[in-house]
Amino acid sequence: MSASNLEEDVALYMDGNLVKEAKPHEAFKKEWKPGQTPDYAGIYRCAGCGDEIASNKGVQLPSQNHRQHSPAQGSIRWKLLVIAQQV
Ligand SMILES: [Zn+2]
Repeated sequence: MSASNLEEDVALYMDGNLVKEAKPHEAFKKEWKPGQTPDYAGIYRCAGCGDEIASNKGVQLPSQNHRQHSPAQGSIRWKLLVIAQQV
């Protein structure tokens, strides 16, 4: 399998037994600014440009490494996409 088969506009998973659709929850609606420290570890998606990043618990969300936005994309707003369960 080439890496290009894994390049999509949305997050991918393979084993459906290990991921589950969440019930509606405020955690998925909140927008975080660059440098803020979110409540959950997981994958965050920028509401402006669609870029996705992995964030560890207790670590600030990135700003400087993030791509430049066009004026139409607005500011960087990170939204929780997938919660990583840490046991
Ligand atoms: Zn962005």
